[in-house]
Amino acid sequence: MNKLKSIIIYLVINTITVISFSQDKSFDSYFTRERLRLDIIFAGDQSNQHCFLEAMYREPEWGGSTTNLVEEFGYGEYNYRVEDKNGNIIFSKGFNSLFQEWRTTPEAKTLKRAMKGSYVIPFPKAGVNVIFSERNKADGLFRDIASFPVDPNDNSISAGKTHDFASSLLYEGGKPYQKVDLVFIAEGYTSEQMSKFREDSKRFAGYLFEMEPYKSRKSDFNIWIVESVSDESGTDIPHQDTWARTALSSTFYTFGIDRYLTAPDQSKVAAAASQVPYDALYVIVNTEKYGGGGIYNFYGLSMSDHKLSAEVFVHELGHSFAGLGDEYFSSEVAYEDFYDLNREPWEPNLTTKIDFRSKWEDLFKKGEAGLFEGGGYMSKGIFRPAADCRMKSNTSSGFCPVCTRAINIMIDNYIK
Ligand SMILES: [Zn+2]
Repeated sequence: MNKLKSIIIYLVINTITVISFSQDKSFDSYFTRERLRLDIIFAGDQSNQHCFLEAMYREPEWGGSTTNLVEEFGYGEYNYRVEDKNGNIIFSKGFNSLFQEWRTTPEAKTLKRAMKGSYVIPFPKAGVNVIFSERNKADGLFRDIASFPVDPNDNSISAGKTHDFASSLLYEGGKPYQKVDLVFIAEGYTSEQMSKFREDSKRFAGYLFEMEPYKSRKSDFNIWIVESVSDESGTDIPHQDTWARTALSSTFYTFGIDRYLTAPDQSKVAAAASQVPYDALYVIVNTEKYGGGGIYNFYGLSMSDHKLSAEVFVHELGHSFAGLGDEYFSSEVAYEDFYDLNREPWEPNLTTKIDFRSKWEDLFKKGEAGLFEGGGYMSKGIFRPAADCRMKSNTSSGFCPVCTRAINIMIDNYIK
């Protein structure tokens, strides 16, 4: 009863707040143009989880929109929101995390683990509460799991720089709060290899702007690079007993999957990017070995030097930036029951047909998109929009119409 009531209130406030943020002055009445980063530890197992505040940081520049502050997508397995002292929602964002993925693996039935991540908001001018919610598996609705009061005058909020990594603009479209700020972060590059990283970043930017819809939306982007220096080249390959001392502690073999390359401590990625404004973090890992990962509003990450570097990069960015789901269904993934067939998944490019109207029924009726069974790691009960798509295979010519629309909507969200 209480849960339902709070959800209804949340939705009502949500609508009101969206309207009140139609002008820049609303932003400036609540926030400075700086950024607050909260480092949060999520801990638990398959049935329980808790989250704990580790530290807070004041960073130079907010890169997100100053008008679109309360998200309307409803994407993500988690959500965090900022409430002012009267309980008005003044910011919200959905996200996924590696911890959430781990909770769906068999290991989480018997083991308790903890993982860290960073969550950013515009720096508040007055006291606020930052509240984290998780999506309830049974009904798909969010319930609060933790609330952290933030006093902007708290002396424990660190304004110190955690590193001296050089950063620069690789491609400039305009002011950060009116553009999608994508940042490429170096991983496994030594100081001698930084010129290679700059070249690799240019190559990756080229991959992005050669592919629709990014090609047509080029002027809506800024691309930053962060030259995070590693002591040693490459990355960890645990099953080959290969270890490298790197800036972001990335590793293959995440959850025992050979090609699943991640940086398990996401706060290291966010800390590396702390001196630049950003909307999307992307880690380029200096390796020839095939692998990558992309987690919504967390980060994308993949290998620098492989014949499929372009395809994998654009695919992983589809997850991490646009919240797209995987359209493939035969693979070695370790997840169990990733999707509940009695619920509509939140990813815009997958449907169980429980609520097809909320997805691409309009495009389907016009014959612009299809309905193909198999997707989201399951061969039955989940449907995708096209026979092939960048979110299904590396051989597809590009994104399907549904993914294309979802990417465009996400770009629009950041540039208003
Ligand atoms: Zn697609």
